[in-house]
Amino acid sequence: MAQFDVQKLIQSGGGPLAGEDRVRFAPSPTGYLHVGGARTHLFNWLHARHSNGKLVLRVEDTDQVRSTRDSENMVLQDIDSLALTPDEGPVQGGAYGPYRQSERQELFKVLALRLLAEGRAYRCFCTDAQLDTKAQAAKAAGKQPHYDGTCTFLSAEASETRAKGGELFSIRMKAPYKDYVVKDLLRGDVNFKAGMVGDFVVLRSNGMPVYNYAVVVDDYYMRISHVIRGEDHLSNTIRQVMIYEAFGWELPKFAHISMILGMDKKKLSKREGASSVHDYLRNGFLPEALINFIALLGWSPPDGKEIRPLSEIVELFDLTKLNKAPAVFDDDKLTWMNAEYIRAMDINELAQRIRPFVQAAGLDPDVRGAAWFLEVLGTVRGNLRTLTEVGPHLEIYYADRFAFEADAKTMLSTPEAKQVIKNFRDEVEKNQGVSSEAVLSSIQNAVKESTGAKGKNLFMPMRASVTGKLHGPELKLVLPLLGAEETLRRIDAALSL
Ligand code: GLU
Repeated sequence: MAQFDVQKLIQSGGGPLAGEDRVRFAPSPTGYLHVGGARTHLFNWLHARHSNGKLVLRVEDTDQVRSTRDSENMVLQDIDSLALTPDEGPVQGGAYGPYRQSERQELFKVLALRLLAEGRAYRCFCTDAQLDTKAQAAKAAGKQPHYDGTCTFLSAEASETRAKGGELFSIRMKAPYKDYVVKDLLRGDVNFKAGMVGDFVVLRSNGMPVYNYAVVVDDYYMRISHVIRGEDHLSNTIRQVMIYEAFGWELPKFAHISMILGMDKKKLSKREGASSVHDYLRNGFLPEALINFIALLGWSPPDGKEIRPLSEIVELFDLTKLNKAPAVFDDDKLTWMNAEYIRAMDINELAQRIRPFVQAAGLDPDVRGAAWFLEVLGTVRGNLRTLTEVGPHLEIYYADRFAFEADAKTMLSTPEAKQVIKNFRDEVEKNQGVSSEAVLSSIQNAVKESTGAKGKNLFMPMRASVTGKLHGPELKLVLPLLGAEETLRRIDAALSL
């Protein structure tokens, strides 16, 4: 990687570029991508594609304990599986890198020293322990836990001397005492009253930048035009605006998107269970379905048509029309949508995607050739809600998996049912198997006539005898795929129950 030339970057300037929207997704990687993060990424991606702009992926890895390279890879892998590739990022590279905050430390330092030199920030020698004690005392006294000003009025001389003497210091920004109004594309004017925030650290004594500071520096030099992120960051925006102001930099446009709530109406957080993209994909959700579903968490198509290709969502997406109210993550709706996608997908494509799930269920998709697999898949896909469900549905086609379920056994044990399948067997043998729908119909008629059984009493024993189950794909589809020999073998097994 080319050397990071901080001076060159500063000289080339920052701020939004004329004629190109640039947005970013800035995860602090702590593991697989949570669906909330996926939504933020998607909305940024959609805006970039809709506006013919650029999406930057910036890794905010300044918390070096939590942000390991492994957790970064997990996030990138999830983004890759959704095929929502950024235009610039640690993998793609780009003109405004490096794209990991940990690799931009020099920039944060140089600029913090500028704030210091210009008197917009000062050295703070208070230790974490001292700050903790002060914050607790303020809290106990019912006051805001703002910085108490110990180092605010240190003389320049005293400050220099202590720094030269080797005392550790952080760089603390002076928070102007005045009202602020932040314009938000979705929320309009957001007011922040004077005194809401105290002086705050921008650079820690270990040289690491604080989030609110790093995010401003990076958004500025990565030439971000729109900051699209979760509403939970709205309260941070005040500090960020103060930093833009201190540097005299143009603000990007802000759009704070609504929170996502669970069905219990509580904030969806990184709780136990399937809440990362990785988990959803592993549990048999199609990336297309997941993306379509997530797009609807805060965005509604103008014509109300919810299931639609990503290209159409790109076309219709309008950042300024996102819903302000929280979105509810409804797992049932996602499952329904996934089933719709499974049903509509090109069968060859589905066969490719579902292979690992078939194999995981211990079934060999190639056992009777590719054409056979496509056909059997075609008969069961209508009943699948997730790809993981394929095993139990496909089992009926595998001789070594064939077994009678308990309710099928009970049903087959009645003398009437036995008679039906006995005559069914004779007809199957006579016809050398059930090769088509027409053959099945004539067999059914013959059995109906010879036994007097009709309706359920006719169909159920036949179905249960050859599939082992009371429910499943239509027999006219199953039997031609089973073949004569296997069909007879099963009916015999049913007869000897
Ligand atoms: N790293 C921050 C987060 O993951 C980014 C916030 C922002 O987009 O400004 O929450």
